[in-house]
Amino acid sequence: MDFEQIKALSDAHYMNTFGERQPMVLTHGSGCTLYDETGKAYTDLLAGIAVCALGYGHPALTEAITSQAKKLIHCSNYFYTEQQARLAQLLCENTCADRVFFANSGAEANEGAIKLARKVFFDRGENRYEIISMDNSFHGRTLATLAATGQKKYREAFLPMPEGFINVPYKDIDAVRSAIGEHTAAVLVEPIQGEGGVIEGGAEYLKALRKLCDEKGILLIFDEIQSGMGRTGKLFAHQAYGVEPDIFTVAKALCGGIPSGAILAKESCCAFKPGDHGTTFGGNSLACAAGIAVLGEILKPGFLGGVEHKGSLLKSGLLNLMRRYPGKIVDVRGMGLMLGAQLAEAIPAKKVQEKLIQMGFLPGTAGQNTLRLLPPLIIDEKQIRAFLDALDELLKGWEL
Ligand code: PLP
Repeated sequence: MDFEQIKALSDAHYMNTFGERQPMVLTHGSGCTLYDETGKAYTDLLAGIAVCALGYGHPALTEAITSQAKKLIHCSNYFYTEQQARLAQLLCENTCADRVFFANSGAEANEGAIKLARKVFFDRGENRYEIISMDNSFHGRTLATLAATGQKKYREAFLPMPEGFINVPYKDIDAVRSAIGEHTAAVLVEPIQGEGGVIEGGAEYLKALRKLCDEKGILLIFDEIQSGMGRTGKLFAHQAYGVEPDIFTVAKALCGGIPSGAILAKESCCAFKPGDHGTTFGGNSLACAAGIAVLGEILKPGFLGGVEHKGSLLKSGLLNLMRRYPGKIVDVRGMGLMLGAQLAEAIPAKKVQEKLIQMGFLPGTAGQNTLRLLPPLIIDEKQIRAFLDALDELLKGWEL
């Protein structure tokens, strides 16, 4: 089928919630390159929104998925599987968490984390259920995670929201302090806001949140769904900031593209008892075999250092472009390979994205007119330089 036929079929039958999609059909990928139905190649700078950390056709990931698929894809959580136990072990051994519960997506991991926080206080006989989260945040599309998501536009059509959620400005510790009350259970925060425009919380703010939560006896939950799994040059962003959460959530890159998510918690917060929570698919053997392969690669000596190095190359390149075109790029933010270049209002990020796609690059966009760059972590320096050259050429010719 060609593009027009596939588009017509999709338009007729798919419930599109994504608006106007890019006018291409992606057919396959290799390394950091994706191909459309005409055979045109694109350097991927989005990784399926921070999912395909190892890119496409990665030998270790492909081998793990294909060999597991031949043996056992799924069997239900009524049974033990080695893959699930080993992935849980790997996650705990490399983070501050003591236990893991696997889910299928980011929203579901956050939903579970919210339930877990409420259960901690239920068990203690304390009537604490409120979650404080941040303006401009993004935590998912289920009702509870929408209530936590501090962006009205996503909620308007779905009111009323579940009770027990308060949004306060990001990076404003006093606002959090004022919002804490007798019913507060936890503060939920992205260490780096992703969908909101790649905005770093910063060490000072995250440390102050940790201190405040300890003072008030409430929990600190980090949503590391976008910032986790090596994206920032550390396995998790909070490790770069030196702040340990009580609970954190992971998804996206966890299993390299096989749908998955996870709630990770310190022992003192592992309040779920049999019957409190559950899942059919979460943590099945196929997803976990993929997760073991992904973590195996990310944890190889030099991999995270490489992410840090390539991240600085990309960031310094963007900062150079900002200096060269000060009225065109107004800010460069983020760490590792989670970067955003905020464009001037007169240069719509969507238009720049469109042009870059024509030039053979696939970047993303995010709030605040930001070009969002979340390439596969295996991107190479040559591909980064080629992208920076393309953006340079584009901005040079852009009439304001
Ligand atoms: N939390 C963050 C920080 C995210 O970036 C996302 C998705 O973009 C989610 C939660 C929701 O994840 P999912 O789309 O897998 O439900």
